[in-house]
Amino acid sequence: MAGKEKNSSQQPLVNNQVYGFIPTDIDGVDDLAELALDLRWSWNHAVDEIWYQLDPELWMETHNPWVVLQNVSRDQLLFQMGNEAFRAKLDEMMKLKEKSQNDPAWFQRKYPSSSLKCVAYFSMEFMLSEALPIYVGGLGNVAGDQLKSASDLGIPVIAVGLLYQQGYFRQLIDQFGTQQALFPYNDPGQLPISPLRLPNGEWLRINISLSGHTVWLRTWQVQVGRVKLYLLDSNDPVNMPLHRGITSAAYGGGADLRIQQEIILGIGGWRLLRAMNIAPEVCHMNEGHSAFLVLERAADFMRENGVSFQEALAVTRAGNLFTTHTAVSAGFDNFSPSLMWQFFANYAKEDLNLDFNDLLALGRENPLNLSQYFNMAYLAIHGSSAVNGVSRLHGEVSRTLFGNLFKRWPNSEVPIGHVTNGVHMPSWDSIYADKIWTHSCGKDRWRGHLESVEQDIYCVSDVALWQFRNASRHHMINFIRERFQGQTEDAGQSPEIVEMAKHIFNKETLTLGFARRFVPYKRPNLLLHDPERFIRILTNPQQPVQLVIAGKSPPYDESGKALIRQWVQFIDRHGLYNHVVFLSDYDMLLTEHLVQGVDVWINTPRRPWEACGTSGMKVLVNGGINLSELDGWWAEAYTPEVGWALGDGNEHGGDPSWDAIEANELYELLEQKVVPEFYNRNDEGIPEKWVAKMRNSMSTLTPKFSANRAVREYTEKYYLPAANNYKKRSSKKGMVGKKIVETNLDLQNKWWQMRFVQTQIENIAGGYQYKILVWLNHLGPDKISVELFAEGLHGGPNEIIKMEIVGLAKNGSDHEFQASVRTSRPASHYTARIVPCYENIFVPLENNLILWQR
Ligand SMILES: *Cc1c(COP(=O)(O)O)cnc(C)c1O
Repeated sequence: MAGKEKNSSQQPLVNNQVYGFIPTDIDGVDDLAELALDLRWSWNHAVDEIWYQLDPELWMETHNPWVVLQNVSRDQLLFQMGNEAFRAKLDEMMKLKEKSQNDPAWFQRKYPSSSLKCVAYFSMEFMLSEALPIYVGGLGNVAGDQLKSASDLGIPVIAVGLLYQQGYFRQLIDQFGTQQALFPYNDPGQLPISPLRLPNGEWLRINISLSGHTVWLRTWQVQVGRVKLYLLDSNDPVNMPLHRGITSAAYGGGADLRIQQEIILGIGGWRLLRAMNIAPEVCHMNEGHSAFLVLERAADFMRENGVSFQEALAVTRAGNLFTTHTAVSAGFDNFSPSLMWQFFANYAKEDLNLDFNDLLALGRENPLNLSQYFNMAYLAIHGSSAVNGVSRLHGEVSRTLFGNLFKRWPNSEVPIGHVTNGVHMPSWDSIYADKIWTHSCGKDRWRGHLESVEQDIYCVSDVALWQFRNASRHHMINFIRERFQGQTEDAGQSPEIVEMAKHIFNKETLTLGFARRFVPYKRPNLLLHDPERFIRILTNPQQPVQLVIAGKSPPYDESGKALIRQWVQFIDRHGLYNHVVFLSDYDMLLTEHLVQGVDVWINTPRRPWEACGTSGMKVLVNGGINLSELDGWWAEAYTPEVGWALGDGNEHGGDPSWDAIEANELYELLEQKVVPEFYNRNDEGIPEKWVAKMRNSMSTLTPKFSANRAVREYTEKYYLPAANNYKKRSSKKGMVGKKIVETNLDLQNKWWQMRFVQTQIENIAGGYQYKILVWLNHLGPDKISVELFAEGLHGGPNEIIKMEIVGLAKNGSDHEFQASVRTSRPASHYTARIVPCYENIFVPLENNLILWQR
């Protein structure tokens, strides 16, 4: 993949002055363009009015200011720019924008002289706005919400992703309930993005080599408040047709296409940063798709410092962080050795000066097994100094999933932590929620630390909370009616049905929401387990219930499509139009309306397959309450005061009889808890118990499950230490890396001949005195650590006691270590072990050797 970027010596720059065909000769229009290209409008709705005024219809249809601006006539622009009120509003918005860009935010205030200057966040998808459809689902949601929060908090993040020629498919549901998939073309000219241009106006292009062919990548910029997202695509006319299509769709095609997309993201992405002279201290891999960046980042360091690949990796991995999002091992991308050969044989030789099998070893559990596939998550782990899962439970699950890379280590020491995901509250709150939160907690509540938020919302009265809830539901039902009417028209339904669609649902009825991808582990049909019982719940005349559903099945997955059909036919067959509606085309906009309006959000995954889940977090700020399986985030959020829980907190695999048990539990919860609590009103017509739950959920869970908290946690737990560590290791042309590689080799060669020679245990007051003689096989005692280990009692944490060195034993070759242990446990509970310990390396992530006393 050798190749020089064009003009890499020049400092490229995004040209904010070139806006295609927008008439910037009209005074003020360049300001409009700047606002239209900053995705801050997608969560800060202050600017909406401007776009509405320019073209109300187009704005309501597209919610894309850039489209509005490109379509509006010159006359209209001239007219509005001459309109004093419009002009004043525009000036005000520009001032606000500038202020939000430049005012010191949380990061500048808390870490004014930090060595962290740049985090590069790599992800295969980003869900920022429906106007930029480069996302599929949860993973993109996490990436998008984290970028927005990084902008709010002033954390120096830039992001790298791919621009797809097609958005994720749009869903139509025909009158028989069959999902039709449509693949609209993403016209780059209409997306809120701009080409990255060099100072001389030339478009910055990056090249890579794919199986011997040079492929050019076009580059784009997306402004997300303070943060920039860079996108790459291969649809450059100079490329062969075969290559132009690589970035045609997210996760499209087979392994052959996937590996090329991932090469573009990881290797192309790193080259793009270099071409712009951006040298991040920290690279954050959001899932393993971008893990090839580990190779290119090291290759870059090799070239610059004249060190070997292994030495460069020892340096650069200190600045890499890997977040895994998968709860099953089948979820990791892996590539056959022959596919790897096709794309990496030359690269290993020419760019890394590395034996091809040594490269493959980075993606294998057992490097000696030459038939093993190359696993991207393993590469990410082998190339990082920290790894995390996305909820507490998922951290545990991941320690089991990746335990095979840390053989002989106790499960609890598999080096994978967790940062529970959160959502960007300003993106998901309704205008009604915004009012209540602003009134009690102030305007900038989601931009700094969130310590006082919890108490503030406790002061809101029951009446105000209940009014807010009702208003939110009413608003959503209007939306549902409008949307469903359009849907019945599009599906060619009879005029009677279209007419009926305008009047479905009741505004005062308890409204449940359920929206997610229709894949089996999410069990989207659990509620249909006993249709008769479910219909009785829905149609109880005193305490009726209504349910709004949405979700896409993977386009070619017949079983997922059958699940959708089952819902639509259920509604049809039983004439339940007033109680259940399936809305088509689940996307960000639809989510926004649903999470703002529903009273209860239902989630029914099979534990532990929902690594985290985020849709339920989106209802928190809006006063919705969760009823969910004890999986992902809900396993750590749930208490009886904040919502309802399904399941027994254990795993039951795909056992259908357990599904039946949980379906019954779900009905029971609805019949005995949820419905009565909603309808049980006091003299003022307020359901006191319900409002109390609502308040608890809003006040205690909203701050905890916000992306603001998650991004601050990433910063303090991972970004800041990683930046420091990378700085240390990369200084003096990577000297530390050299020493790490030398020491590793030395340990590898001598490790298995080390021996425990003798152990003496003496009873002392309150415990034991341990003296242990070990033969270190000529390894320096400063390279290892001798520890006593005891498994935790009753599921508690393991005990690990580091022994101190006494010195050389009398025989002149053994070393003596000692420790006193305060304990009431028998001495037989403690086992001695030797682990690597040198140069501040991360054990066992960077060196997984361990020797146990037999
Ligand atoms: C929030 C969201 C998701 C992710 O939700 P899960 O809880 O992971 O199912 C997926 N797609 C869209 C459109 C969303 O808004």
